[in-house]
Amino acid sequence: MNGSPATSRDALSSAMTDPFGRTISYLRVSVTDRCDLRCFYCMSEDMTFLPKADLLTLEELDRLCSAFIAKGVKKLRLTGGEPLVRRNVMSLVRSLSRHLVSGALGELTLTTNGTQLAKQAQELADCGVRRINVSLDTLDPRKFREITRWGEIDKVLEGIEAARAAGLAVKINAVALKNLNEDELPDLLRWAHGKGMGLTLIEVMPMGEIGSGRIDQYLPLSLVRARLAQQFTLTDLAESTGGPARYVGVAETGGKLGFITPMTHNFCESCNRVRITCTGTLHTCLGHEDASDLRKPLRASDDDTLLAASIDRAIGLKPKGHDFIIDRRHDRPSVSRHMSVTGG
Ligand code: SAM
Ligand code: SF4
Repeated sequence: MNGSPATSRDALSSAMTDPFGRTISYLRVSVTDRCDLRCFYCMSEDMTFLPKADLLTLEELDRLCSAFIAKGVKKLRLTGGEPLVRRNVMSLVRSLSRHLVSGALGELTLTTNGTQLAKQAQELADCGVRRINVSLDTLDPRKFREITRWGEIDKVLEGIEAARAAGLAVKINAVALKNLNEDELPDLLRWAHGKGMGLTLIEVMPMGEIGSGRIDQYLPLSLVRARLAQQFTLTDLAESTGGPARYVGVAETGGKLGFITPMTHNFCESCNRVRITCTGTLHTCLGHEDASDLRKPLRASDDDTLLAASIDRAIGLKPKGHDFIIDRRHDRPSVSRHMSVTGG
């Protein structure tokens, strides 16, 4: 902001490299904190959502995303809350797809609970979305209702079929939950791989007050992997997305299985991502309280110079790694914001 005009204008297109030499090329955008489900590990039953007036408009979200794309973001993931419950969200997807057409953006994707996909999958595909992640922790309708507090699994299964029919590659994300879906994970794996869908397992992360302790939910994926290895032949794959997932090939199914292990594996060295919330707050690390407000510079001028300088300043503060801990002494959120605010 204080640089010469030439320096400030350079910020519009300069790459985002943090103090540890990591170049940021992946942006996750939470387009709403609201959701039509209440997964018990993600939200409390009586969540208070942000006043609508605090949210960036879809036009502002487009401008913010476009500023990041100009600064080198190649992969953009829309998430939430539930991204597909934001009114008119498809107009944002459609307008962002211009960056796919121009080649500035390599991939536009989203993470969804799948409940709205039956209606929206075809339009996503028409906008150039090629792959989506659908979160589904169980195939048992009763357990699904228990986990989501009131969800109907049939809607999600229909949504997944609609996405596949529209030609979208679907990856299933499942949180590994002690005493809830742990016995079902081999079946979930066979089901997903049987349909040609990848499966990624996630450890519960200590984010936000949810009205119960994390110890009861936490199931280390090291244990899950050891159990799966008794039934399946798992071979480590070299590939990495720069994210927290590590992948194995499963010989018996021919599919790919991912493990997201923030609690048992430190993945921060290769982190290439940052997150923005639906209010325009930039979080450079999922596991830190760090936050930079981009709404103010965004609204301060129609020109993106100020915004780009604010982005650079925030990237300059990206911490080296996360602070997650779950143990008996720390059975409280390490990070006070809920996952539905930053979108995971
Ligand atoms: N509503 C969408 C969905 O469920 O896919 C997108 C947002 S949701 C917050 C993104 C992912 O975060 C989901 O796969 C969900 O299971 C996961 N998640 C939510 N809270 C979590 C927590 N405390 N620990 C680990 N994963 C969590
Ligand atoms: Fe909603 Fe996704 Fe959180 Fe479940 S995990 S409550 S679907 S935002």
